[in-house]
Amino acid sequence: MSWEDKIRKVEPYVAGEQPKEKNIIKLNTNECPYPPAPGVEEAVRQLAGDSSALRLYPDMDATPLVNALAAQYKVDPDQIFVGVGSDDVLALCFLTFFSAGSREQPLLFPDITYSFYDVWANLYRIPFRQVPLREDFSINPDDYLPAVTGQENCGIIFPNPNAPTGLELPQADVEKIIAGNPDSIVIVDEAYVDFGARTALPLLEKYDNLLVVQTFSKSRAMAGARVGFAIGSKKLIGYLKDVKFSFNSYTMNLPSIRIGTASARDAAWFEETTEKIIKTRERFKEDLRALGFVFPDSKSNFVFAKHPDFSGAHLQAALRARKIIVRRFNKPFICDYLRITIGTDEQMEKVVEALREILGK
Ligand code: PMP
Repeated sequence: MSWEDKIRKVEPYVAGEQPKEKNIIKLNTNECPYPPAPGVEEAVRQLAGDSSALRLYPDMDATPLVNALAAQYKVDPDQIFVGVGSDDVLALCFLTFFSAGSREQPLLFPDITYSFYDVWANLYRIPFRQVPLREDFSINPDDYLPAVTGQENCGIIFPNPNAPTGLELPQADVEKIIAGNPDSIVIVDEAYVDFGARTALPLLEKYDNLLVVQTFSKSRAMAGARVGFAIGSKKLIGYLKDVKFSFNSYTMNLPSIRIGTASARDAAWFEETTEKIIKTRERFKEDLRALGFVFPDSKSNFVFAKHPDFSGAHLQAALRARKIIVRRFNKPFICDYLRITIGTDEQMEKVVEALREILGK
């Protein structure tokens, strides 16, 4: 066997483009178009005058951030795990909770979903099955129930709202999946929940096999700071911490802990900003509909839309030529859809204007 045969080979996740050029309307990675909470700027100023912030190792438990989140979500600090973006949290969750996967008991997630799930499953050698969505892109909860399908699983993960469709799975269906899988961990990835969907957090009181994962990257305008977190039972969070501290203790840097804490404390800014994005989204949906686009009813900070008369590739290229970047996934069933992040009202008006021109309307 050559050394090359001994290497763990993986096909990495491909993230959306981060363009270098200026004057681009960047609507391809679901970032927030507004600046973070005012307290974040103040925390950055304070960091500049505090040399120990960089000289010392950070608090490996991110205590102030965990406490601020515990206060906001009204849970015990022991029920919270923070990581370097929710990607870090989710990757550790795969390693911690899904390692018992086998061909007979695969990990289950939707076939059209966040495209990092199959990458992590492959990285950790976790057998998985991608469960087809219904034709309308909705998740059928029955497909995840061993009592219905006859198939056991080693765990379940899905985003709610789902990505890239933006569709919300109703709370009753989320509960059906959790209740129907008492012997597996069910992870609800709520990266986009703050834009009008219902969180599964209240279900934590009833189910110890549920873990909810959220992020500061979208609704808190802090994708660059890399802050994500999980909320679950103390027991689950304990297992997650054991794996994290067996891997790398000091993952979150001190500046991110400080600015994350400042953001987590500002509930008013959070409400106001997410409301603004929801309003812009609903207006944008009306404009898209008037132009003949079809799309699932998004509850996230993006819309997943296609036009019956134009290919997705053509529309994406024509928008790019007008300095507007949107995301498209070159995969079966969805290659004609554009995933368009909700920006400011002004940016979305420019998108509509550009689309009008491209469609000749
Ligand atoms: N989950 C979903 C469904 C996502 O779309 C994203 C964003 N790419 C993430 C998790 C990870 O986001 P972050 O690491 O920035 O928290």
